[in-house]
Amino acid sequence: MTATILDGKALAASVRGSLKERIAANLDAGLPRPGLATVLVGGDPASQVYVKFKRRACEEVGIHGIHIDLPADCSREQLLDAIADLNADATVHGILVQLPLPDGLPEAEILAAIDPAKDADGFHPVNQGRLLLGEPSPRPCTPQGIMRILDHASIELLGKRAVVVGRSNIVGKPIALMLLERHATVTLCHSRTVDLEAEVRAADIVVAAVGRAGMIRGEWLKPGAAVIDVGINRVEDGSLVGDVEFTTAVERAGAITPVPGGVGPMTIAMLLENTVLLSEPPPSVGQARK
Ligand code: NDP
Repeated sequence: MTATILDGKALAASVRGSLKERIAANLDAGLPRPGLATVLVGGDPASQVYVKFKRRACEEVGIHGIHIDLPADCSREQLLDAIADLNADATVHGILVQLPLPDGLPEAEILAAIDPAKDADGFHPVNQGRLLLGEPSPRPCTPQGIMRILDHASIELLGKRAVVVGRSNIVGKPIALMLLERHATVTLCHSRTVDLEAEVRAADIVVAAVGRAGMIRGEWLKPGAAVIDVGINRVEDGSLVGDVEFTTAVERAGAITPVPGGVGPMTIAMLLENTVLLSEPPPSVGQARK
């Protein structure tokens, strides 16, 4: 069997196209142009690249981008002041603080300072709580993008066994909740899981979000499984690979996301979508689907 490649890049382009039309229609209807503020603290090269992509994507669809660049040695107070200004700015509908923050800045406190109604990343504790409760909220972008990829490929979730590897607050935990919300039977694995291979072998759907190149072996997969590879790992030859050993997995899986070109582009598309939703009158943001 050779797996269907789940092309996140193409799907993201189509989402961006729809958003562009939706923004134009909203402007015609008298709604404001959506505004997304991206806050970058320090000069971490990977963060700079991610923020550049996000800013460029905003421009492409017609979202007004507000760029705040702060030095790596900025104080907690300076950063909190910048967020307070953005919270008060009516032209800003979404705020994103690029993570990780430089050492010494309290990440949880900074994320909690963002107005939950402007939380484009869906990381605010109130919005994470709403997700837990199954209430509408801006949803974290990477898990939301994964759900969109699964739905676009018509992958059945109801009653299926889903194994999520990695339990971060931004990917593993929220995707586990979203799969649960759609009636999958979910197992959440992590570094203390005793027999990861056995867990993966039982899964109809595997989501790998660890950050270790090729750690999920193709031979572990249940034949026909749907595999979502979130990992982004730079290897010795300079190329990017995922957490799943692609060459063997593609022979055994039913469907698989490539790295790059799978989950990554959808993450940015969902950030844009959250910003548009936040600029529209409620209720609509991240409506839970049953
Ligand atoms: P974190 O580093 O926050 O979490 C990694 C998780 O992997 C932890 O829960 C950890 O377990 C678990 N883990 C580590 N080693 C093992 C192991 N041997 N077996 C099982 N589980 C293990 O990662 P993130 O969620 O932030 O990111 C994961 C990957 O996804 C990274 O490569 C990142 O670059 C990528 N990423 C990609 C995005 C995209 O848009 N494509 C967006 C966000 C992330 P424990 O909790 O026990 O330590």
